[in-house]
Amino acid sequence: MRDRLILILPALLFLLTATATLAENSLRIEILPKIVKQGDVCLIRTAGPKNLKSIEGEFLEGKIPLVLNANGKFYEALLGVDLDTKPAKYQVKVRGQDKGGKGFSGTSSLEVKKVSFKTQTLSLPSSMVDLDPKTLERVNGESKRLEDLFQRIRKEKLWKGRFLQPVPGEISTPFGLRRVINRQSKSPHSGVDLRAAEGTPVLASNAGSVVIVADLFFSGKSVVLDHGQGIYSMYFHLSEILAREGEKISKGDVLGQVGSTGRSTGPHLHWGIRVQGSKVDPFSLLRVTETIRE
Ligand SMILES: [Zn+2]
Repeated sequence: MRDRLILILPALLFLLTATATLAENSLRIEILPKIVKQGDVCLIRTAGPKNLKSIEGEFLEGKIPLVLNANGKFYEALLGVDLDTKPAKYQVKVRGQDKGGKGFSGTSSLEVKKVSFKTQTLSLPSSMVDLDPKTLERVNGESKRLEDLFQRIRKEKLWKGRFLQPVPGEISTPFGLRRVINRQSKSPHSGVDLRAAEGTPVLASNAGSVVIVADLFFSGKSVVLDHGQGIYSMYFHLSEILAREGEKISKGDVLGQVGSTGRSTGPHLHWGIRVQGSKVDPFSLLRVTETIRE
């Protein structure tokens, strides 16, 4: 009997530790909502131990920077699903490590549904569409500056609670509209155009830091805010800019006024959102953050 106990005890102990480690090491991931459309935003949430040294999510090739939320209960981040993401079922992975080096991980599925974005076909004089080499060089440089910026993810969270629509107007050009000009397909509309009178104050969608104040060829007078965690908002075609680069901004601060600068056919605000580099529908960000109280 005693011999048997000696044999069984270590096995039992091993089993107990093994199950305890397994339970401790797994993270439960919540995705809200679990089914999204191309160009949507969702909230990733996990209730890991509070003292994690590091925690990060992964979706496709991109990193999701999770941070402990205001009530200290969950690690959270917004995830952007680019409008060009192939409709399919994907896995979102989260990995963390505590100060003792113990690892935690979990996965959850996220389904991306197809959107039939509308196509607009236009015929314009070639002088309006084809750019001379010097202008093309300028346009490429400006686009690279923006794309490089959107790849930079500040782990810190500067935004708080729900995002705001920057001007009250209705949508004149929807998100994701495919444009074919003179039989050449152009990149899809990566933001929403909001109808508004010249001079209407443009409000910051959320708190953040002003990372770009510039006069760009296509976008005209432009402001870009960094809200942290890879979330950027942009405000284009302004008649006047009231923000300075490097300045810290609170939600609802006036950034400038609606105008028609750059390539624009009349006063409106082009409002764009990037989340970890992904082009997303600003109204999806409004819906997802609507219920966040902090
Ligand atoms: Zn636009």
